[in-house]
Amino acid sequence: MIHMRDKRAIIIKDPRLRKVRDNLRRIFLEAVSLKWRELNNKRKQLKFNIDGTRRVLDDFSSDELQDYRAYQTQQNELRKLADKSICKCNACGKADRDMVYNKAYNAWYCTECYGLERTSAQERAKVPQKDSKSCEEKAIEEHSKTFL
Ligand SMILES: [Zn+2]
Repeated sequence: MIHMRDKRAIIIKDPRLRKVRDNLRRIFLEAVSLKWRELNNKRKQLKFNIDGTRRVLDDFSSDELQDYRAYQTQQNELRKLADKSICKCNACGKADRDMVYNKAYNAWYCTECYGLERTSAQERAKVPQKDSKSCEEKAIEEHSKTFL
């Protein structure tokens, strides 16, 4: 059971609708993956000469280097788009689950991962707080709070 203030859960109970949802997610993720691989191939083509010898970035013309960087940027954006979408859990990557939105991360978590994070956040909240905390402890605490 998930209690939310600014959290939103999308839960589908009907097995046929779940199947439709899962298939649509798969299509979206596959389209993203196809485009990502296409960009990766374009980068690979720049990294090798026609005779198969490897080129380093210093061998690239300024246009080639610009293209290479543009492909990398697009690949990163595609990966972020898929990772932050409702199509897969931001923590475990599963695509066939009901999802809960975490506004702090602008990302979706499956109900299982969200529940684990929430339980751990609730346990952490029960422990008396120390006055001095390391940066790591503060970061974990901030992350944890977003699931309460
Ligand atoms: Zn998950």
